[in-house]
Parts: sequence; C-alpha cells; structure tokens
Amino acid sequence: MTIVTTALTLRAFGALSSLDADTRRALEDRSSTTDAGVRERTRAIIDDVRTRGDDALRDMARRFDGVTPDVSLERLDVPRAAWDAALAALDPALRASLERAARNIAAVHAAFRPTETITSPEPGITVGRRPDPLQRVGIYAPGGRAAYPSSLLMGAIPARVAGVREVIVCTPPGADGQPSPVVLAAAALAQVDRVFVLGGAGAVAAMAYGTASVPRVDRIMGPGNAYVAEAKLQVVNQVAIDAPAGPSELLVLADDSADVEAIAREMLAQAEHDPDAAVLAVLFGEGGVVSSQAAALRDALERQVATTPRGEVVRASLAARGGVVWCNTREEAVTFANAWAAEHLSLVVRDALRQSTLDSLRAAGTVFVGASSSVAYGDYMTGANHVLPTAGAGRSYSGLSTLDFVRWTTWQEVTPAAAASLADDVGRFADAEGLPAHGAAARAWAGAANVAQASAPTSTQTPAQTEEPRDRLAFARALYDAVPLYDPKRAPVALDLTDNTNLWGLPPSAERTLREAPVSRITRYPSLYAADLKAELAEYVGSTPERLVTGCGSDDILDSAMRAFGEPGSVVAASEPSFAMIPIFAQMNGLRYVGITERADHQPDIDALLAVQPRILYLCSPNNPTGALTARATIERAVREAPGVVFLDEAYAEFAGVSAVDLANTVDNLLVIRTMSKAFGLAGLRIGYAIGAPALVRDVEKSRGPYKLSALAEQAALSALRDDRLWIDEHVALAVRNRERLIEALRARDYAPLASHANYVCVPVPDSVAFGQALRERGVAARPFPALPHVGDTLRISVGPWEQVEQFLAAFDAVRQDAVQQDASRETRA
Ligand code: PMP
Repeated sequence: MTIVTTALTLRAFGALSSLDADTRRALEDRSSTTDAGVRERTRAIIDDVRTRGDDALRDMARRFDGVTPDVSLERLDVPRAAWDAALAALDPALRASLERAARNIAAVHAAFRPTETITSPEPGITVGRRPDPLQRVGIYAPGGRAAYPSSLLMGAIPARVAGVREVIVCTPPGADGQPSPVVLAAAALAQVDRVFVLGGAGAVAAMAYGTASVPRVDRIMGPGNAYVAEAKLQVVNQVAIDAPAGPSELLVLADDSADVEAIAREMLAQAEHDPDAAVLAVLFGEGGVVSSQAAALRDALERQVATTPRGEVVRASLAARGGVVWCNTREEAVTFANAWAAEHLSLVVRDALRQSTLDSLRAAGTVFVGASSSVAYGDYMTGANHVLPTAGAGRSYSGLSTLDFVRWTTWQEVTPAAAASLADDVGRFADAEGLPAHGAAARAWAGAANVAQASAPTSTQTPAQTEEPRDRLAFARALYDAVPLYDPKRAPVALDLTDNTNLWGLPPSAERTLREAPVSRITRYPSLYAADLKAELAEYVGSTPERLVTGCGSDDILDSAMRAFGEPGSVVAASEPSFAMIPIFAQMNGLRYVGITERADHQPDIDALLAVQPRILYLCSPNNPTGALTARATIERAVREAPGVVFLDEAYAEFAGVSAVDLANTVDNLLVIRTMSKAFGLAGLRIGYAIGAPALVRDVEKSRGPYKLSALAEQAALSALRDDRLWIDEHVALAVRNRERLIEALRARDYAPLASHANYVCVPVPDSVAFGQALRERGVAARPFPALPHVGDTLRISVGPWEQVEQFLAAFDAVRQDAVQQDASRETRA
C-alpha cells in the first residue's frame, strides 16, 4: 500500500468566529457551477429531442455514451426478459441485500403514505382532501462513473407504494449499448413497467416531451450529472421534477464526547462520491477541549485519507469544500447547521443532548442520530429515502417521499341547511367585491332550511332507505365521516339466500337449551371469558383453551383484533375481493386499508400483499365471495414473511373440510378466526372465536374487556358442540352436495359458476344489480357483486335445502326469460 504523505488540505479549519469572511462565504456557498456551456448544450439537446425524437436519442447514445457503431439501436427500451435475466444472474448475496433494501423502502414509504383527510369547520360543511397517485412517472438512474441500483429502488418503490399506475426508468448505456446489469436487476426487483436505455439530458427531454418510443411522464425523479440536473430545470414548465440534487454533502454536528475516528470515517464516505462533495464537521464545546478535538479530527482524516482507495477524490473534495470548524455553544453550531442545510447531517452528541438537538435541526435533508447511525446505512438500507435536497435547498425542500408521487383533489359539500346559513355572509362578500352573480348564487339557498325540513323522511321509511345525515357533531371523530353505516340492504323477502347461514335452521340440542334456559341465566352476568366454551371449542378444532378467544360473532373478533394489533395508521392489507367488513373495520380503528386484487386463479397475490409490509394481513379461506380455498403454501408463506400478524378468516371452513388451526398452534403470528354463524346455524346468537398463540389471543381479550358472549349464546353453543355434531356434519354434507348440484344446474344453463369450497356459489351474470332486483321481485334474494376482478358482475347464492335451490332456479329462469322477451320486443320496435 502506498502512503501518500502530502499534507491534507481543508477548505476551512478554525473557530467559526475566527474564519475570515471569504472563507466563511466559500464554505456556505455550494451553488452549482453549471457554466453557460452546459446550459447551452443542454438546451440544444432538448431542442433536438423535441424535433427529431428517437433519431436524436440514437445519435446521442453514440455521441455521448460511446455506444459502438456495431450495436443496433433499433429498440430504445430493454426487453423485460433482459431484466429478469440480470436479476437471475445477480450474485445471490447481493440480490438478498437488494431485496432487504427494497423491503425496507416499501415499509417506510408505506408508513408515510399520504392519506385522505376529511374535516368539518361547521355543521353541514364537509371538506376533504384526497391524494391521487400520478399516472406515469419517470425515474432517472445514473450510470457513468458508477451505477446506482440503490437510486433506482429509492425512486421506483415509493412511486409503486404511492399507487402510480406506470413507472418507467431511463438509464444510460455502456459501449455495448446495454445498461449496467445491476441497474437492470434493480428494475426487475422494483417491478417497474419499462426500462429505456437512455442517458443524460436526452433522457430527461424524452420523458418530458415524449417521443415515438418514450412516453411522456407526469414527474421526473432521480439524481444525475450536471446535464441531467440542468435538463430537469429546463423542462420544469412542462413536467414536475424533484428537488435539485447536486454533489453529496455531509455536515457532522458533534460535541466533545464524539469519537474523531468515527467522524473521519463518515466524512470520507461522503467525500469519496465526488470531487465536488462537501463535507464539514462542526464541533462544539469548551474552548481548549474543542480545539484540540478538532486537531485530533484533522489527524484522523489525514491518517484515513492516506489509505482509502478513492483517496484522490477525497482529497479534492476536502480541499474544495471540506472543513473542520468549531464553536463554544450548541446554539451557534445549530444556527450554522440550519443555515448550511446539509443533505446529510450526522448528529453525534451525548445522550442528554440528543433529542433537543434533533428537535432544533430544521433544514437538513435527513439526520442520522448517534455514531452508530452511519450515513451509509441510510444510503442503502434503513428504508428512508436517499434522494435528498443539496446545496442549501433543504431550507425549502424535503427528501423524496410518497408525497412526491401524488397530487391532491379537494372536495367540499354543503348541505341545504348549511347553505341557508351561509347565504347572507357569502352574499355580503359578493356585494363587497362587486360580483352580483356570486351573490345571487349564494342567496338562492337562503330558504333551503325550510325546504330541507319539508322533505324530511317520514316515519314510514326505514332508516336503511334514508340517507345518512352528513352533519356531524362538533365532537365526532373525523375519520367516521368518511364511512357509511354498513347496510347490506336486507329488506324482507320470501327466500333470502344472501347471508350464507345454515338454511336448515337450528340444531336440535341448541334449540332445546335455548327453550329451557333457567331465568337465572339471564338475570346474572355470563362467565367472564367463556372458559367452558373455550374448552369445548378447543377440543372441536384441535387446539387448547389458552389458545382460544371468543367474541360476539367473528365480526367482533376481527374488529377487536385489529384494534389489538394495529397502531393508528398501520397498514391492513387484504386480498380483494373479500369480506366487505375488513376495510370498514380497518378505517374505524384508524388503520390504513390496502386492498390487493387477487390473481386470475382466485389466489391472493401474496407477493404484492407482502410488499406493502402490512401490520395485519387478512386472508379468507374459503374466500367470501368467490368460494376459493387459499393454498396452504400461501398461508405458510404469509406467516413466514409477513412483518406483522396474519388473520386467516375460516368462517366457512366446515364446508371445505380444511383448516390451518394446526399452524396456529405452532407459530406466534397467525390468528385463525372462526364462527358458529354458518355451519352451526347460530348466526343470531353472535358467536365467533379465534385460535392463535396465547400472547395473541390475550391481546384480543385485552382490547375489549369481559362478557363479550351472552350467557344464552354460550349455553346454546355448548349444547351444539356436545350433542349436535352429527346433525351439523349431516347438514354440512348436504350443503356441499347441493352446492355441486347447483353448479351443475347453472352449467347446464350455459353459465360459468366459480368452483366453491363454501356453502354458496358465485355465478357471473350480466348486470348483477338489475338481475338481483328482478330476482327479488320474484321473492328470492341473492347478493349481487358488481364487477368482481377477472370475473365481472356476479351473483352469490347461499346454498341450503334442495327445495330452496329449486325455488331459486325457477326465479332465475323466469328472470332470464323476461330478459329474452324484452330484447325481442325491443328489436321488434326497432
Ligand atoms: N367472515 C366472513 C368471511 C363472513 O362472510 C362473515 C359473515 N358473512 C363473517 C366473517 C362474520 O360472521 P359472524 O360475525 O356472524 O361470525
């Protein structure tokens, strides 16, 4: 190893108060050195791309990126197979590191995702603001001196998490016309949509204006060289860009407790990026101590620079923009740091000063708190974004986040009563501003309060038919405004096949117990936590009582378990379509619901579900409404890889004869949720239960308190479990047989019902809502599901005794017959 002995040059070394004005100004000034030449050449490149499109891009690839003449540039995009191949060929250890980074980026950005806010400044006035993901964004991934797969992940994953429809990437080619394999692998990992092999200002111009090959985007993100930065500035009237990102910067803010070797390592790590990188240590402490600490730091830098492989780059950067300065008070150091607005700020102070110093830092791109929080971790792995404002832009800009990938729609709604109360005030404003039509529009509603009263619902209308009042009480929780009262529109009908209950009725022993219940069962409280029932249920499902929790229907278990395991804002992910209450429970508990569309084979898209890093991952098997069974391997993978708890809803498990209770007995993050509402015919008694690790079920109990199960419900459930098992088995078998017969009957009519493992069948029909309404007019209710993914409009029919199935089929045929006749008469008229 060669030890370079030339003495280290720093741009500044000394007490802050003693620096001469020129040195101080030079230290603070990091304005970019874009010369007029760069500006002019960039303008020419952009103009060329605008006029000649793809041809200009091809010329530039040869001229600027050195693509050799023998390489064909027919296609400017890289086929997906090439990215997949790059990912497959990646060193497995590096791949695992990239995957870990990708997971953390997804988790952090999902947690900081913007959410809709709805508020009400006065009764009757509701104002909301909703984040709408951008349609298409472009990520620039630099190549050149070094390929940065990390930058690609930092741009593309937050875009995906924010819900951007299409993410494209531009990255420069090497001489062989190909981008760096590791960038391609990162593109595959981040699941972008397209990769273009384009570099520099040309790439920015193509994304801003579009060419035959490159689609125009709504925002351009990602760091790049001086031409890329300049090009972004020149297209800013056309498309949104990210904050300017120049050479790397680090400010270490340390007190006299800090280890100078560690500070020197951090400074070298940033300085090696670029000869223009700016690295600065600001030390504070008592006079003599801090100046000798500064000298020790300079020695440490000297020693480390001598042996670091990119020593030349580091030396250049330290000489141009590096410094070690000190001052006596923390306030002075913080004031300097806030004015300097570093891209990265490393805060290395004694524990007692940590929090208050962090709180006072107001302009850093990101702050690394404590010596072990190396900036390198943030560059790659912590999941925080490394695309950060530089050159003092941190005073006005923030680092890249999901906020950069949405735009906002605000909406406002004024009820007639509130309009009446606003009319005069708004009219006065309009008069004062000389806008008479505004005044007229406002005053037109002056009498609306009376009108609203006159049309108030009469008592003959059921609440389900009247609209929920939007006026909210001053003390209401804002989040409850956004959700309607759950209303499955269950008007009475002769044959109701909408709720998947046991259509044969009540099991005989349970019925006897209910009829003969002694009065004392009702006058006294039930057992605290249903110990007897837990013992019986444990035997029934093959578990142990300490792994069971009971509740008021499985609805209650789902709701209280969300409360138990979700922090406000935690992500609840569910495969869609599924049980309609899940998003509602999530929202009501202040959690963030993310629905992921299932795959065409009706299996959950487990990759996508895991990618959102859910605190709670909900799966339903057999699934409501499709009837599909979730593959055991998928459940096992969910349990293995989910960062939080997995809820497996087995409301219909009896009809499938399959369960994952055995898994819930052995792992610590699976809650299997069951009910006695379906196979057991006890829906009206509201009995649900769940099986999971003792610590899991204990927290569910904690989240709501005792007496969740009524005494009558517990007694009837005990009787059913002890004495009605044969009856249950028999009727489950009948439901399964009739389900298959119904499927056959529908197929015979040329319909394509979905395979089902539950006591219901989903059949695609045109316009399921109208179809459901027509069935209802014939006395039969089935539940319409409009626009199910991969399937379209569907009706879900609960299966019970064969006479009921026949009644359904008769009504179904009659509705189809009517439709045929209507079509015919329409044609005749036409
Ligand atoms: N999970 C699923 C999948 C369901 O379909 C239902 C009811 N339709 C429930 C849970 C809730 O059932 P309960 O509250 O009656 O136990």
